[in-house]
Amino acid sequence: MLGEPAHRTEQPLIDPFGRAIEYLRVSVTDRCDFRCVYCMTEHMTFLPKRDLLTLEELDRLCAAFIRQGVKKLRITGGEPLVRRNILWLFRALGRHLETGALEELTLTTNASQLEKYASELYSAGVRRINVSLDTLDPVKFKSVTRWGDLANVLRGVDAAEAAGIRVKFNAVALKGINEDEIEDLIRFAHGRGADLTLIETMPLGDIGEDRTDQYLPLSIVRARLLDRLSLEDIPYRTGGPARYVTVKETGGRLGFITPLTHNFCESCNRVRVTCTGQLYMCLGQEDDADLRAPLRASPEDTLLDAAIVEAISRKPKGHDFVIDRRTKKPSVARHMSVTGG
Ligand code: SAM
Ligand code: SF4
Repeated sequence: MLGEPAHRTEQPLIDPFGRAIEYLRVSVTDRCDFRCVYCMTEHMTFLPKRDLLTLEELDRLCAAFIRQGVKKLRITGGEPLVRRNILWLFRALGRHLETGALEELTLTTNASQLEKYASELYSAGVRRINVSLDTLDPVKFKSVTRWGDLANVLRGVDAAEAAGIRVKFNAVALKGINEDEIEDLIRFAHGRGADLTLIETMPLGDIGEDRTDQYLPLSIVRARLLDRLSLEDIPYRTGGPARYVTVKETGGRLGFITPLTHNFCESCNRVRVTCTGQLYMCLGQEDDADLRAPLRASPEDTLLDAAIVEAISRKPKGHDFVIDRRTKKPSVARHMSVTGG
């Protein structure tokens, strides 16, 4: 349209419920160098590498979404920083920040490779990342992640902050594992000037054990915290599903992501694409759209753009997660490491 910047060529993506889709999460690999107990089994089978989109294809795919109005891009996985040459993709995507088409390029990481990559991520335009940290106890850390090393993760966090990247911590609330540590995690994050977001376990993928044993409703966590801390609801939003409070004693922000106790779908502006080019319009539903075929069918983007528009027209109103003892099976067979958190 005349007068519009060159990078906004298409109509924005609006779903059937009037929600503008402005946030894309891209899983660049389903592989990981950790095996978190709530996320995967120890002997997880990964996708054959030949099925993965190349970094060039991921770049083209992201560019198509940005052209259609996506303003915020989060790179995730699996562990995104274990994908070979991943910094190439960050640098390539960083060009959309320079044109102004993209407002933010972020990353969710377990921080195992962060010490190595922090300054290059900053150079590519990354200013904010989410780091998953479920416990501050090195022995528990090893048992939750199976393969992780807490000291290495903390060095990665230090490196990110030293490079000028703001860190937000994510912790999954786990019954019998970190439920007695939530206040320590809050004080740790807030002591560094970082936000902390608590997440409920979601029933995604078989993990080789009963999820009801791990599930800790955040309504319980919050009620327990209220015995010791003053929490004040605030309207702060980051574009994601977290609802925030300020903790009076620390002055820091605490987020709650409660897919099971509170349905956060009404304001969902997100879609997710896997490393094989499957677009999931909802994390909690099976419906998907294959973008790899239109991507590979032609070097022009006409088919790809049309496939994206068609997929968004199928975005459902919300998910129907349940974790209960009768169903046992995960609500959604896909692991979080496939769709990306
Ligand atoms: N490997 C990176 C990491 O751990 O940050 C990125 C991918 S990971 C799948 C993204 C987020 O999903 C992490 O914060 C992780 O704790 C969370 N996660 C994984 N499986 C989950 C599940 N079943 N329920 C809730 N959160 C989950
Ligand atoms: Fe890996 Fe992240 Fe899943 Fe842990 S939560 S196994 S770090 S993908």
